[in-house]
Amino acid sequence: MMNVLQEQLEVKNFIGGVFHNESSEFLSVISPLDGKEIGKVPMSDGKILDKAVNAAKKAFVSWSAKTIKERVQVFFRYRSLLEAHIEELSDLVRLEGGKTYQEAKAEVEKAIELCEFAVSLPQIVQHEIQEVSRGVECRVEKKPLGVVASISPFNFPSMVPHWTIPNAIVLGNTMIVKPSEKVPLSLMRVAELLKEAGLPDGVFNVVNGGKEIVEEICDHPAIEAVSFVGSTTVAKIVYQRATNSLKRCLALGGAKNHLIVLPDADVEMTASNVVASMSGCAGQRCMAASVMVGVDQVDHIINKMVAVARDIIPGDGVGAVISEEAKKRIETYITNAEKNGAKILLDGRNTIVKGKEKGFYVGPTIIDYVTPDMEIAKEEIFGPVISIIRTNDLQEAIKVENTSNYGNAAAVFTQSGALAKEVMEQASAGMIGVNIGVPVPREPFPFGGWNESKFGVGDITGRSSIEFWTKNKKTTTKWHKQAQVNWMS
Ligand code: NAD
Repeated sequence: MMNVLQEQLEVKNFIGGVFHNESSEFLSVISPLDGKEIGKVPMSDGKILDKAVNAAKKAFVSWSAKTIKERVQVFFRYRSLLEAHIEELSDLVRLEGGKTYQEAKAEVEKAIELCEFAVSLPQIVQHEIQEVSRGVECRVEKKPLGVVASISPFNFPSMVPHWTIPNAIVLGNTMIVKPSEKVPLSLMRVAELLKEAGLPDGVFNVVNGGKEIVEEICDHPAIEAVSFVGSTTVAKIVYQRATNSLKRCLALGGAKNHLIVLPDADVEMTASNVVASMSGCAGQRCMAASVMVGVDQVDHIINKMVAVARDIIPGDGVGAVISEEAKKRIETYITNAEKNGAKILLDGRNTIVKGKEKGFYVGPTIIDYVTPDMEIAKEEIFGPVISIIRTNDLQEAIKVENTSNYGNAAAVFTQSGALAKEVMEQASAGMIGVNIGVPVPREPFPFGGWNESKFGVGDITGRSSIEFWTKNKKTTTKWHKQAQVNWMS
């Protein structure tokens, strides 16, 4: 078992059940917690991808021939292994992603929940059959696609890969997973644990790298489907490139989530929910609150938000952002907003954590009097920053939400069911919260946004993923008694 917390790690690809390292180019993996190098990640090329695809193709023959009830057995054991190793896995996520321990643990717990959905698939995926006319039956069976790929972002090194791994494999596919080059450590441990759980060699493969390997995945003729999660800019590139080479593709992109706050909202609950949504995981969640649209008089809630956020201690209550570059980018957004006339109520710039002076910390930041035309109101900031836009009524607030190019999540805080319903019906987002700051649908409900937050059909988790990872075989049978008699005589 590797001990990543005490020594530097050479990240390896995992191909055909074996760790390999044949790359000539490596990138440093830096821990956001203290800015130290914790490992090196290989930048793989097309030849390495070919090896992984060949291993996956070979494994597909016997893996797809098993019944779904046989395949889930591996994930019953794997789920137990995740639970048994939760502390070590959470430490790994914390180390490479810069999260607090509690946030990292919540992410691994979510990976466990995703496995629980996957092991229930035999109860859900049943073939359809009907006698459509006397003696004639139609049946539809869900068949695996073959070799599939999954590409993930930096902000959830464990959870996001688990959106795809258990379901795709249980449904009979074999897989190539490409983690973010910024956080490649967790998946090495996932590979080890899947092997320990009894997953046959070649069913699950990890190929590390960046842009080049993603392009190779999109172009590879033997990969049938590509699932992508990351920024909208790259989601568009991947969706266009993968579908251009005639693959099935689902590409989840970035977000700019609006929380609409009405004056009748419960003060304590709303303030703590909004602050937790914008500052949790240092704002690096595609479900993070980025804009609070205050309707009419909400100063009492804003004051409480500032008080709650001021008590959050960087390095303890809020983790680090992923890189030095990200810290600079976030701070520049705050500075530009101030220059353009917004008012900084709480300023997280220039945050330094004692003993971790080289870590990449930004404190919770609340910016008031932002207008919809400002860059900070439109672009994804991906840091613990919330912009407040003030509107006179709910329809104006909904209009502000609707102008966003994104559409991952939106939420409303109110005690009025009728007003909440207006937001539920009119917000242009795939996931809506009522008095909930991070409205992530829990299993078995599907996860996915609208507009430029997602390209492709369906959602990435839940029942929706069954359609993505399978193809329907339609069979029509006619057992005509007269025909049989003729043949037998
Ligand atoms: P990113 O788009 O920079 O990278 C995602 C993946 O694409 C990585 O594996 C990376 O190696 C690869 N990549 C980067 N540039 C590429 C290029 N030019 N061509 C091909 N591949 C490329 O995203 P990130 O910074 O790692 O993650 C943060 C983003 O992900 C945010 O925008 C966030 O909102 C989004 N995200 C969305 C969801 C969702 O459910 N919609 C979930 C998590 C994160």
